[in-house]
Amino acid sequence: MKFDVLVVGAGFSGSVTAQCLADAGYSVLVIDRREHIAGNAFDEPDRHGVLIHRYGPHIFHTNSDKVAQYLSRFTEWIPYEHRVLAEVNEELLPIPINQDTINRLYGLHLDEAGVAEYLESVRESRQPVRTSEDVVLNSVGRDLCDKFFRGYTKKQWGLDLSELAGNVAARIPVRTNRDDRYFSDKFQNMPKEGYTRMFERMLDHPNITVEVGIDFESMCDRVRRKHTVYTGPVDAYFKHCYGHLPYRSLHFEHEHLPGVRRHQPVGTVNYPNRHAYTRITEFKYLTAQEHSGTSIVREFPRAEGDPYYPIPRPDNEALYQRYKALADAEPDTTFVGRLAQYRYYNMDQVVAAALKAVEPLVEAAKGETVRG
Ligand code: FAD
Ligand code: UDP
Repeated sequence: MKFDVLVVGAGFSGSVTAQCLADAGYSVLVIDRREHIAGNAFDEPDRHGVLIHRYGPHIFHTNSDKVAQYLSRFTEWIPYEHRVLAEVNEELLPIPINQDTINRLYGLHLDEAGVAEYLESVRESRQPVRTSEDVVLNSVGRDLCDKFFRGYTKKQWGLDLSELAGNVAARIPVRTNRDDRYFSDKFQNMPKEGYTRMFERMLDHPNITVEVGIDFESMCDRVRRKHTVYTGPVDAYFKHCYGHLPYRSLHFEHEHLPGVRRHQPVGTVNYPNRHAYTRITEFKYLTAQEHSGTSIVREFPRAEGDPYYPIPRPDNEALYQRYKALADAEPDTTFVGRLAQYRYYNMDQVVAAALKAVEPLVEAAKGETVRG
């Protein structure tokens, strides 16, 4: 087989690069070892006809006009602002921590200024702020840290907050007002017909061939090509020559509840202190689907299994940098995406990374056209 480019992985990073390169005139073969496209964003109707996300809840949000405009070529959107409650002291309280969280938890009646004063009085000043524990203690102090963050983090990562880089907990803002949205981004919408449909449109291009259920290892020597885009785990590409980069995995327990219109009051309920799972998500909130029943997913974190999360810690970053040096020395291969760049990227950040990664190849194609 002969193509200009082989793209390994049909998730956001692979599909965006494939689409851009195809538009620029390259012939592209996209392969994925899974039986479907869309990577971890894959959605499908379950047996009962409820649209679910097989690999856990995916809520789209971005501040990037470029990313929103790019994806809007392949989907219409429905507005959705995600809300999350955390079970603490047998109550469901807003997370990110806001004015209502503090007033309800402690039986107070503080206004915005009062909450800011309260947080100032309980926060533990940490210098420098390096770990996720530093981030949380520095902003909300020990009691809120132990109630909302320590248990959840231990479950999610198998590590204490103090063992994780600050950027993990820093994903969750702290608010003094009553804003109870999980994300603050200006663009918060879900693809109207789902993620998989959006990917189908992205890959529907005369220059793109898609083959699923195929592993890179089995294809590597069979496809003649000028360039490879690799979006799988970077350590696997180099046969773990420096050892395994740790990725955190999850087990997803999906359940359909017939005849139940609403299982919980918001899209996601977090369980920082109880249960082996971290959270339950009810998909109908995310998708606005009408159905007489409802479908939920529980997430059970684990060490083994499909790689879902890079684990942000200084020693892992140091190991990644060794692999990155090898990757940088391969000019004919582009490494992009959450697994290949070992970055705790959201979907929009992956799209931005992919759009950037293809720029040199797109520019080269333009040069060829001019010369041709
Ligand atoms: P992936 O989606 O992992 O795609 C990589 C693909 O490469 C996979 O399909 C894999 O099968 C394939 N592959 C790997 N190795 C090989 C090989 N050797 N041969 C062939 N194929 C291979 N982001 C948000 O913005 N909002 C959210 O709400 C959100 N929720 C999330 C919830 C969970 C539980 C998880 C795990 C992630 C969530 N994300 C969310 C992050 C989002 O999933 C990622 O940012 C995005 O999917 C990464 O895209 P990717 O293409 O880099 O990787
Ligand atoms: N987190 C927490 N308690 C919560 C929510 C989040 O301790 O109720 C911490 C936890 O370490 C988690 C991180 O913040 O892994 C990032 O949370 P996010 O919801 O962004 O995780 P993701 O959706 O990527 O799994």
